[in-house]
Amino acid sequence: MTHDYTFLDADNIAEYLRSRPEVQGRIDPDRIASIREIGDGNLNLVFHVLDADQRGIILKQSLPYVRMTGDGWPMTPERAAREANSLQEHFALTPELVVEVVVYDPERYILVLEDLSDHSVWRDALNRSEQHFDVARRLGSYVAAVAVGTSILGRDRGEVAERIAETQNPELCTITEDLVFTEPVFDIGRNSVLPENAADAAALTADRVFAAAMAEAKWRFMTQAEALIHGDLHTGSVMVRGASGASAESVKVFDSEFAFYGPVAFDLGALFANYSFAAARATALGETERASWALSLVSETWQAFEQEFLRLSENWHETNLFNGDFARARLDRIREESFLFASAKMARRIVGAAKVRDIETLEPGLRAPAARATLASARALAANWRGASDIAQFSELVSPHLLNS
Ligand code: ADP
Ligand code: MG
Repeated sequence: MTHDYTFLDADNIAEYLRSRPEVQGRIDPDRIASIREIGDGNLNLVFHVLDADQRGIILKQSLPYVRMTGDGWPMTPERAAREANSLQEHFALTPELVVEVVVYDPERYILVLEDLSDHSVWRDALNRSEQHFDVARRLGSYVAAVAVGTSILGRDRGEVAERIAETQNPELCTITEDLVFTEPVFDIGRNSVLPENAADAAALTADRVFAAAMAEAKWRFMTQAEALIHGDLHTGSVMVRGASGASAESVKVFDSEFAFYGPVAFDLGALFANYSFAAARATALGETERASWALSLVSETWQAFEQEFLRLSENWHETNLFNGDFARARLDRIREESFLFASAKMARRIVGAAKVRDIETLEPGLRAPAARATLASARALAANWRGASDIAQFSELVSPHLLNS
């Protein structure tokens, strides 16, 4: 398929905004004061536009290829539709926790988004050693709202069948399947580690238990169409506002182009893995207390998820068969799967092609032990995820590696 549409740039943005009545009252296209490209973006163009009254708006446009590598790696721009769609659906469920889509333009694959530039990307805040409280709790309730509100538990089954058909996202799912599940086990030439971590990476490759766990994780990812999950819920997909050391004034989830009907535990596992990176970083920097705090976020998110899931279960779609016992059995399954998916996410960010700044920006002398601890944690989770019946077990499995004893 060829894709023939005009890419946004500083010279055509004002004209574009003039053509969109939906943005009226949010920004004045005739008095644009500044346009900045802010995409840290491996994938898309992202512009921050301000008018003379300092009112802002964000324009995010998908290109028909991966931006990082140029047009050598084609990728469907339809991912913008997946993002717009899922953000709108999640916003309808929890408007306080999701960025607002002002308008989606399917012809040019442009999302016009609420301007959150008074927020920080949570990963950046964590990497500055900041602590925003109550973020993890709110993310747990966001995942629960999505788990119920987009699934047959909370919606008419006919509507869900339609949504599953409309939200197919095979190209982006394939990226996850390759990078998150397969390649940490079978290197196709994209993996890399520091020389000091070569033995750790070799041990991971030789770990048959880890390989079997990744097979199970990939299978479940590809077959369990439970809910319209975010699909990439790491700390870089969350923005927070407010001072360090206090409860966040605002928490907003964004960047959901990997959304599809998949396992709810995949979003939880992504969060747990990223809390673990934050803990590994804090330990490397000698910030012992902050490391414990980062790891405690696993329980904070889980408990909020569980509480909200059970609350919603009291009057979801069908309570005869899908009763309280059923809800608790679902939670048991989601808990153990969240350990499994966290394991995958942890390993891939150390050995795989796409790394995380939490670890990568540590100087090599600190990075190698942090990477080693993260890989050991991934393997411990892969060996023990089945039957994990208490969220405290997550910390019991990883803290010997990630925290200083
Ligand atoms: P990509 O999918 O290419 O990674 P993102 O959606 O992650 O694009 O956006 C890239 C960066 O742009 C984010 O990390 C953030 O710094 C900034 N950004 C994205 N959306 C907004 C927004 N609504 N308000 C303010 N900044 C944003
Ligand atoms: Mg992003």
